[in-house]
Amino acid sequence: MSIKKVGSAEFKGWVQSLIKKHTVYGVQAKEDRFAFDVLDAPEDLRLDYDVTILPPKKYIQPQKEVLLTFDENGVFESVMNEESFLILGVHPYDMVAISQMDKVFTKDNRDEHYMAYRERATIIVSDVQTASKDVFAGCMGTSTGEECSGHDVLLTLLADGSSLLEAKTEKGEALLDLIPNAAEPHEGDLEARSAIWESNRKELRKHELHVAPSDLPELLERSYDHPVWNEKSELCYACGSCNLVCPTCYCFNVQDDFNWDLKSGTRSRCWDSCMVSSFAKVAGDHDFRPLAAARYRHRYYRKGKYVPDMIGEIACVGCGRCITSCTAKIANPAEVYNCLLEKV
Ligand code: SF4
Ligand code: SF4
Repeated sequence: MSIKKVGSAEFKGWVQSLIKKHTVYGVQAKEDRFAFDVLDAPEDLRLDYDVTILPPKKYIQPQKEVLLTFDENGVFESVMNEESFLILGVHPYDMVAISQMDKVFTKDNRDEHYMAYRERATIIVSDVQTASKDVFAGCMGTSTGEECSGHDVLLTLLADGSSLLEAKTEKGEALLDLIPNAAEPHEGDLEARSAIWESNRKELRKHELHVAPSDLPELLERSYDHPVWNEKSELCYACGSCNLVCPTCYCFNVQDDFNWDLKSGTRSRCWDSCMVSSFAKVAGDHDFRPLAAARYRHRYYRKGKYVPDMIGEIACVGCGRCITSCTAKIANPAEVYNCLLEKV
């Protein structure tokens, strides 16, 4: 696969050609924060962003997605995404999260609705230029383009204002073909990129995790009755914000909506939150996790044990969004896991 070096004007021209050929979702400023949205012009792209409000998974597992339509005779028809699109500027930790979702949604039962989005997505990862205030990806091994996979192009801005573009797939190679006269990078450019990776591993540590991520399942194994679950959850509002901003949370609720004729309708799924009190309630009004402490513990077990037991990876990529979004200031995975380490 090829690597190209482009100047800032050339890069802008490349983004313009991407916009002409694809539906491009790129990071843009929204007042004093950042969000992925449809990109209309290269000037609107903000690759110097710190973190986006919602992760780019929203384009692959939409917040609300119609799965099928049905009618009064029980005839149903699946609704599948058929649109191709390109996501530009995904940070490495968010790419690790998407790769984890790929594993979860294809393990045992392949989720065709998820794959209809995933297979039509082209993803350009951008190395982080500005560390957000709560990121700890450096502790989780998810802070650089060297540590993620599943994307089509890796983009790294160098100190001289030029960018390195590395194709990772055939789709990515085709995107780089749109800049035929781009220069090959020198050895020094690749060394500069390695230095950026080294720096990001150190800088993206606004919170320190005092346990190796690979040891988390074992630590949690012996922490089920730890007092921290009660202590922290006493302050929890059960608002679900920590779930909704998380790039590795993928739980959804399924609901049927009838049309005005009361004979036909749609079945859809939408993001759900295990921190909300109704999440584990089933028919007969039985609630598997009626206590806030049980819901709070479940979230950290899911990230550090249940999903790792399933796919072999820790399901927290250290983006820090839950820390920033929690008004009660209790959703800090690094702090919670450190607490288990100290008191066990
Ligand atoms: S648990 Fe928090 S820090 Fe970890 S990936 Fe989810 S939102 Fe990011
Ligand atoms: S964001 Fe904070 S208050 Fe809201 S559910 Fe999560 S832990 Fe509880």
